Order: sequence, then C-alpha cells, then structure tokens
Amino acid sequence: MIATEASEAHESRLFAAMSEGFALCRMVYGDAGAPVDFEYLEVNEAFGRLTGLQDVEGRLVSEVIPGIGDANPEMIEAYGRVASTGEPTEFDVDMDTLGLHLHISAYQPRPGHFVAVFSDITERNEAEEALRYAENRLRLLFDKDPDGIVILDPTTARPVEFNETAHRQLGYTREEFAELSIADIEDVETPEETRAKIDEVIREGRADFETRHRTKDGELRTIHVTAQLIEIAGQPVYHCIWRDVTDQVSEREQLSLSLSVTDAVLESVDSGVLVVSSDGKVLRTNRKFAELWRVPDEVLAANEDAKLLEHVTGQLSDPEAFLASVAQAYDDPGAEVSDEVHFKDGRVFERSSRPMAVDGEPAGRVWSFRDITHRKRAEEEILRLNEQLEERVRERTEDLSSANEELLSVNSALVETNLRLEEATRAKSDFLAAMSHELRTPLNSIIGFSGVLMQGLAGPLDDEQRRQVAMINNSGRHLLELINEVLDLAKIESGHSIPVIRETDIGAVAREMFDTVNPMAEAQGLEMRWSCPEELRPILSDELIVGQILLNLMGNAVKFTERGFVSATVSQDDSGVSVAIEDTGRGIADEDTGRVFDDFYQVTPREGGKSGGTGLGLAVSRRLAESIGAEIDVASVVGRGSVFTLHIPDHHDC
Ligand code: ADP
Repeated sequence: MIATEASEAHESRLFAAMSEGFALCRMVYGDAGAPVDFEYLEVNEAFGRLTGLQDVEGRLVSEVIPGIGDANPEMIEAYGRVASTGEPTEFDVDMDTLGLHLHISAYQPRPGHFVAVFSDITERNEAEEALRYAENRLRLLFDKDPDGIVILDPTTARPVEFNETAHRQLGYTREEFAELSIADIEDVETPEETRAKIDEVIREGRADFETRHRTKDGELRTIHVTAQLIEIAGQPVYHCIWRDVTDQVSEREQLSLSLSVTDAVLESVDSGVLVVSSDGKVLRTNRKFAELWRVPDEVLAANEDAKLLEHVTGQLSDPEAFLASVAQAYDDPGAEVSDEVHFKDGRVFERSSRPMAVDGEPAGRVWSFRDITHRKRAEEEILRLNEQLEERVRERTEDLSSANEELLSVNSALVETNLRLEEATRAKSDFLAAMSHELRTPLNSIIGFSGVLMQGLAGPLDDEQRRQVAMINNSGRHLLELINEVLDLAKIESGHSIPVIRETDIGAVAREMFDTVNPMAEAQGLEMRWSCPEELRPILSDELIVGQILLNLMGNAVKFTERGFVSATVSQDDSGVSVAIEDTGRGIADEDTGRVFDDFYQVTPREGGKSGGTGLGLAVSRRLAESIGAEIDVASVVGRGSVFTLHIPDHHDC
C-alpha cells in the first residue's frame, strides 16, 4: 500500500512536468453497479491548460462538465472498464462540450480508479482533414486530366491504375476498362510489338510515339503516347499518358494539304512571288522570284526584306524611285500597287503588290514580279513597224493619188476618143446608108434595062450579046443584094433599126418564109417538110426581124442543098419559141461553124468554086437576133447536112 502511494506520488511528480494532461480519478458506480460518474482526485498543470478547467480536484466530472454523461457516455463507459478490469485502453474522443478533440490513454493505478493521460489532437485532426482534402483534389485532378493517364503492370500490360479520361475516351466504364489489356484496344501494334515497346521503355526510361486505339464502338482514335517507367512505393510501373490527337492529326493533315497546294501553286506560276510580314520579315518566296532577281542563297536565307532590297536595288536603273515606291506601299497597308520596274541591263518587270491580312488584320504584303522584257520589246517593235507602215501607206497613197490623176486624165482622153469613135462609126454608117441609096438607083436602072435587053424588048440580040447582057444583069443583082445587106448591117450598127415588139405568131411568120423559098426548092427538086404544133401560142417579139432571120436561114438551106430535103420545125416551151431549119446539104466543117457568122465569111466548098451570096447573111441574122434577145445555134456534119435553130424569147417574160 505504502509502496503504491509512493509510486503514485512519484507518478504525480512525473506527470506534473508533462505536457500531456493528467488526471487521477475515482470511478463512481450507480445502483446497478454501472459506472456513472467519476471524481477528480489529482490533475496536473497541463490538465488545466488543455481543458480550461480549474479547481477540479475533489469534484465529480458531472459537476465540472455538466451534461458530459449524455454527451460522451462512451468515455465514462471506457473509463469504467479500465477502472474495473485493469486493462489499459486508448481512444480518441470529441468533447464537443469543451470544443476539444482528445487522444486519451487510460490505465488502472488501483481498482476503482483510473488515470487518464490525454493530448489535444484537434490540430492533428485538422491536418488529417487537410490531407484527405488534398488527396481528393489530386484524385479529381487525376481523373479530370484532359489526357488519359494509365499505369500498367509492365509484366501483364494490364491497367493497375487509370483515370476517368482514360476509360471514358475509349467509351468504357471504369469496371470494364479495369478488365482490359493493351491488346484489347491497340489497333496498330501486335501484342509482341507492345511488349517490345514496354521493354524499350524499361531500357530507355521513356518513349514518345503515336498509335491508334479502338474505342468500345470500334471507332479508331489517333493517340499520342508518352510512356515512362516510374516507381511507386519502390515498385517499377509503366506510366502512360494518352493524348487523343485525332482532331489535331486531321487538322494537321488538312493544313499540310493546303500548304502543299499553296506550294504547288506558288511554284507553278510564272511570276516571282515574295511575301513580306508587316515587320519586314520575308515569309515566303518562290523559286521564280530568286531566279528573276538573281538572289543568292545566303540573301534568301536571311529572310529579311531589307537584305533583299539591298541586293536588288543595285540592278535597277532608278533605285531611288524603286525604294520610294516600296516605302510608299508599306506606309499605306491597304494600297494595291501595280507598275513596271526597269533594270540597268534593259530588262523590264511588271510589279504588283497586294496587302495581306490575317484574321482581318493587316499582316504584310504579297509582291509579284513578271519578266515582260520580251513583251515590251515586241510592243516597241510593233510601234516601230506601225510607224514604218504608216509612212509607207502615206507614200503609197501619194503614189496612188498621182497614178489616179494620171488614170483620170487617161480616162477622160479615152472617153473623148470613144466619143470620137462613136461619132466616126455613126458617120461611117450614115455614109454607107446614104451611099447605098445613091448606088441602088443606078443599079436598078442597070438591072431593069439589062432585063429589057435580055427579053429582046429593045430589039433582037444574038447569043453572045444575050450572054453578056445576062452577065450584066446577074452582076447587077448581086451588087444590089450586097448593097441591101450592107445597108441592113449599117442600119443595125447605127442604131436606126429599133425592134418593134408586139404579139407575134411565130408559126405564121415561119410558114410565110417557108412558102417563099418553096418554089426555089421545088426548082432544085428538093422535098420541103413543115412541122408546127397547132396549139402554138403567140409571143411578144418583132415579126419583121424574125421573118428576115428565118428567110435567111431557109434561103441558105435551100441554096447549100443539092438533093434530099429541107425542113422547118416550130416548137414552144416556157421561155419562148424555137424554129429549127434542117437540110441534107453539104454541111459545115467543125472549124468553120464558129466563123460562118463573121462578116463576109464564106466557106470555100471542097469541090472549089464560089458559092454565090455575099457572106453577110448570117452576120446580119446574128445581129438582128441579138437585137431581139434571140440566139442562133448551128449543128452540122460535112456531107450530111446542117441544122440552124433560132431560139426566140417571149418578151412577156423579159
Ligand atoms: P452567103 O451569102 O454566102 O450565103 P451567109 O453569111 O449567109 O453568106 O453564109 C456564110 C457561109 O456559110 C456560106 O457561104 C456557106 O458557106 C455557109 N453556109 C450557110 N448556111 C449553110 C447551110 N445551110 N449549109 C451549108 N453551108 C452553109
């Protein structure tokens, strides 16, 4: 007993110096023997400091902390167990009545008593709370990270830990994903390749690569993987960051496509192109640009407009003007420039510049240059040639106008000559007509009186005299015929013979002429054939002219036919009436048919001798036919006969 007290006194001293609270208490039991209260026997200084309770010794806890029995029954219960069983215990208690969180160790110094040693753990609780909060926050950050984070077991390639993004981006729930291995989602690599990759990471410590993952729906996503080997609690794990770059990849592909298109276009145009940013950096040039301006690689590589300008101005015929125009373009970012650049060596470039905008903001300028030296030279050449041409045209015009004047004077001379000729022709015809009249009168006397002599009316003639008088009579008749025909010709030529066009029955006219030559034909023993349609319609023509032509043609047919027949055939068509005179006479050779219409032309008969006539009959007939628009055709075979056809147009149709 004494020993116990001595030890308690020792403990009291010990506890007095402790920073923990110390209380020696006696347990108070209720009627049923259950612990209901306790009395503070001794407390140390730290007790008062920690709990804020003073002068507690000798008092019951129910007095010191009213309501404690209801607030912390578990505490009284625990103390009771220690006091009665002697088994020490340790527990945390929230003493809301005191606003304290205490960690309490209790043991039994002697039966029915207990010692409580306690420390304030309010702060420790707060630290734990803070740790929990930090943990949650990290978890949240981990789960909500935009990249999938997966920690794999390097041996099985199965996920050990992963965040929400990792399973969501592939369309799996957390539970489903936990069951998968890389082979279930990998589209590019075979499991062996995945294995090799993991081994590489184990060796190298890290790997960055792109692959394709299959989502639960089968869609393929392009994933950029950063894999590294890290240690968690001393264990090596395979840590992967999966970034879904599908959209970036397609954007990247789009971008690279449009860049390729731009490149191809830039390199295929015939102009040199230079793109300069607002701050004077060269953003782009094409090969043609370097070629045109002869820019060396090192100047190009500098990518500075100032360096380019320095290089190019030396080549120009007016560098100051060029630099001023460039500066002016940059001063006015919206301006469009278009002009020509002239080089010392004679080259000429067409230059144009447009502003370039990025998102509506001025971002620089695009310059383009085209070598137009050849075009310029061609234009100058054309101008020169044009001038030459104009000069020549002027000269030629002058030549022509003088030639024209000459022509005009020649023309007026010709007109005059013509007039004189016409006058002379008319005078000749008038003369011939007059002369013919003058000749006919004595001729008629010669023919008349020689006829009288021949018939013996002026006394009897012997044979010789009759023969000679007959020759005089014949020659007279021939001369008269000649004179008549010359007169006809002269009348036609002098314009005195004017056709009189009226309704004409060509059938009747032809018949009359047919009857006229009939006695002559009969005298020669020729058969005369006549053919004319009954329904022949009259046409508009000159009756006398038609009659004269037909008489001529029929007279010739009889004259140049010794045996056989002479026929006259009348026919009509829409254009008019034709009369064909056919004979079985001596015919005309091919070479003569064209000439029988010439004045005074007579075919010399094969058997020699004269054919009689004047050689003017057909010439007169053709002129007469022309005067009424008619035509005469001839078809003939030597020794067989001829057909002369007169086509008379109906003046109704003219
Ligand atoms: P001519 O007064 O000689 O008959 P023409 O001018 O009437 O003169 O005829 C010219 C020539 O054409 C005639 O001399 C004759 O040789 C030839 N000739 C004309 N008609 C016929 C015909 N029907 N048959 C053969 N020869 C003809």
